[in-house]
Parts: sequence; structure tokens; C-alpha cells
Amino acid sequence: MRHKKAVTFRQTTRPRKTHRALWTASMLALACLWLPYRAPARQIQFELVLAGGRVIDPASGLDSVRNVGVSGGTIRAISAARLSGLKTIDVSGLVVAPGFIDLHSHGQDPENYAAKAMDGVTTALELEIGASDVDAWYAERSGKSLINYGVSVGQVPLRIDLMHDPGGFLPTGDAAHKPATADEVARLRAGIERGLKRGALAVGFGIAYTPAASHWEIEEMFRAAAVYGASCHVHMRYAGGKEPETSIAALEEVIADSAMTGAPLHVVHISSMGLRDTGRLLQIIAEARSHGIDITTECYPYTAAMTSLGSALFDEGWQERLGIGYHELQWVETGERLTAETFLRLRRMPGSVILHLIPEEVVRVAVSSPLTMIASDGVLSGGKGHPRSSGSYCRVLGRYVREEKALTLIEALKKMTIMPAERLQRRAPMMKKKGRIEIGADADITIFDPGTVSDRATYDKPADYSIGIKYVLVGGTAVVFDGKLRSDVMPGAAIRAPIE
Ligand SMILES: [Zn+2]
Repeated sequence: MRHKKAVTFRQTTRPRKTHRALWTASMLALACLWLPYRAPARQIQFELVLAGGRVIDPASGLDSVRNVGVSGGTIRAISAARLSGLKTIDVSGLVVAPGFIDLHSHGQDPENYAAKAMDGVTTALELEIGASDVDAWYAERSGKSLINYGVSVGQVPLRIDLMHDPGGFLPTGDAAHKPATADEVARLRAGIERGLKRGALAVGFGIAYTPAASHWEIEEMFRAAAVYGASCHVHMRYAGGKEPETSIAALEEVIADSAMTGAPLHVVHISSMGLRDTGRLLQIIAEARSHGIDITTECYPYTAAMTSLGSALFDEGWQERLGIGYHELQWVETGERLTAETFLRLRRMPGSVILHLIPEEVVRVAVSSPLTMIASDGVLSGGKGHPRSSGSYCRVLGRYVREEKALTLIEALKKMTIMPAERLQRRAPMMKKKGRIEIGADADITIFDPGTVSDRATYDKPADYSIGIKYVLVGGTAVVFDGKLRSDVMPGAAIRAPIE
């Protein structure tokens, strides 16, 4: 085979002169292609020009003052020369970056989209838990969304439906605690395949919330994902370091699933799973990647997690597993810290707790690792929730980039833009036009003041919007203008894989 290929190559190789002529010709052709964008840019009138900003595009490494021309929802010009626009916004002194892409956003309604936009997010995706009925999920948001939205098909909601679990977002009954029969595993797998045929972006897993799901059941879901080239976004089986149910063992399980089946793997909120072993989990991910496993991960920049108190996470033994006690739990509705008595009473009620369990140095390790994307895992409901919903992106830019210098600005932006776009673009080609400031890319653009950008949301006031985000464009339409939210526009579009 090798010999044959070499011969073919020699036969098709042209003499040197022809080669050079061809090269020159193709360079000329390329130059001509560039001309419409470069030379006459002054004559073209764009719908909108962003003038004089510091354009940072982590995909290409560009970090320079440029003018950006936008028409028809698309970036049409990026130029050091002046551009003419029907409308021009002076963005000098501000950073012009690709709109942020959140791969893990449970909040998928107007309240949450508003908070996300003010935090610089132009695309918010629910990929961890996902939906069981993908068509219905997209239909609910069509034409009514401030920012772009999308969903995975989820093993958790499929299990909830199949086993008629009484829980809401997360299971509290059979879906958590009953092993599936062979027939039920087949029906779950069929549900995953149905969702993927309907354009679900990925496959979602909350294994810690369905502890009765066998290793074989999870493998079957990975096999279905592999057929459709869908990444598996996994909340792993275990957190913490108590053997044998450690976050390391949990990571080994899903790396094995990915290696066996070929389905890409994305491990969600690495720091709240790894806790003090987070550095080791990151090392394992780097090692698996170096041997060709397609595995990525994400984190949020906070020392607390949040989840339903009724979920399987708080089954017998949780204190030992997570290394915390009642006092580290904070009831979201009232902000009160729990006791043994209130824990028992509130566990029977619907509602969430904030878990103060991640050491600050672990957060810094996760945020600054080149392996992690930033993803919020957030959801607000009536102004209540975890500050990560409203503040994740600006907290990284303000606290970890500007104040602590734990990473550079372009490194941070990479985690918010091109990395999440690339995670999804093989399955969803429309993501090739997101996460970039380049000609032909969608005009999803976030413009902020690097000197003031900061989160303001706290555990007491989780819905307080971030500051320093000056303009946010979604498909060329401003949803944040001069630092103020616009609620009279709905440019958000569905982010979806091709429907079969
Ligand atoms: Zn989770």
C-alpha cells in the first residue's frame, strides 16, 4: 500500500516551474478573493460598524485595534482601516470578543436569558440534564428568546418518564433508585436515538442522580451517542476522594465508555466532582487526551455547588462522601444554613440547597487550567438560585484575570468562545460560525470594559447582573446596549444538530 501511494505521488508531482507558476496563480486568486473585503471596504456601507475596539479572537490569536463591519447578522469586515456604517458604535477602549457560549445552562427562560446576556453570554445550552422530548423543547423557545438556545437529549429525563418518577428536574423515586431491566435499557437507548435524530446537540447524563443506572446502561447510552457523533456531557457517578466511590473511579468509568464506544466525552463541573482531587482529574484528562481519547471538561468559578435536596446526592452517607456537614448546606429559598432537623424536614420538599464544599485553591486550579471551558451550571427561579447563573463569566474576567492574574485575558476568552464552539461543531456544523470574530462568522459579539468587568451576584443576591458588559450582539441585534438590557428584541435562534 505504502509503495503504491509513493508511486502515485511521484506521477502526479509536476515539474518545478509549473509548480511555481501554479503557486503564483493561486496566490493571485487568493488575493483577488480578499480584495472585496479589504480595498473597497471604505465604499461598502455596513449595517453596523463597531469602531476602534480591541478585537480579541482566541481562535486566530488576533489581539489588535480593529473596526468590525456587520451586515445581515454576519461579520463582513475586520479592518484596521475606517469602515462606513449606517450605524456606528464607538467601542474604543473596550474589548470586542466573540459572544460567550455556555455549554451548561439549566435556566432556559426569559429571566435566565436576561441574566446571561448581562454576563456576556450569547448562546446558552442545556447539555447536562437535557430533555426527553427535543422537538417540544425547541418549540417552546422558538421566536421568544433573547439569546441562542439549545439542548441535549438526556438520560435523566428519559429515565424519569420511563419510570414515572415523582421528582421534577431530578429524580427522587424509581428513576434514581431502581435498576433498569434489559427491556428498559433498550427503551432508554431508543429514546436517546430518537432525540439525536431530532437534532439534539449532545447526550446528557447525571449518573450521580441515577445511582441505580448500571455501568452497562450507561455504556448503552454512549453507544447510541457514538452512532450520531454526539458528545456525552456527564455529571459523573461519584464526587470526592473516599474510596472506592471516588471521583477518580467515576472518571475512569466514563473514559472507558468513551474509549470503548468512540463517543466524545465532556465532563461537567470538574471542581465540584474532584474537590481536592481536581488536579488529579485534570492530569488524568490530559493523559487520556494524549492517547487520543476525545475528552474535554468545564468548571464554574465558585466555591459552592447547588442541587436539589431531594436528589440521590443526599442519600445515606453524603457527609462522608462529600466531606461536609449540615452547616455547609444553605437552603436556597430562605438562605438559612441547615441542621439535622431542618435537613430531614426540607428533604421531603421540592427545593435546592447550595453546598459550600469546594476549596478556593481548587477553584483557581480549575479556572486557570488550559483544559477547562467556563460553563455556569446555573438556573435562576424568581430571583433565587446560585450566583453562578448571573456572574460566572464576568467573575472569571474580573476576579481571576484582572485581579488575581491567574490566567490571561485571551486564555480566559478562549475558554468561553472557541473551545465550546469546537466541542460541538462536528455534530452541529452551525457552531463553526460561532465563538469566532472572523469574516463570515455569525455576529454574536460581546463588548466589555476590561478595567471594570465584574460579577455582582452573591449567594444572598444571586440575580444581581454583572457590570462592565457594554454591548452584546446576538446575530447582529443588540440585546445589551450601552450597558443596558433590551427586552424588546428576540434574536435568539435555535442551536441544533441536523435533523434526520
Ligand atoms: Zn451537575
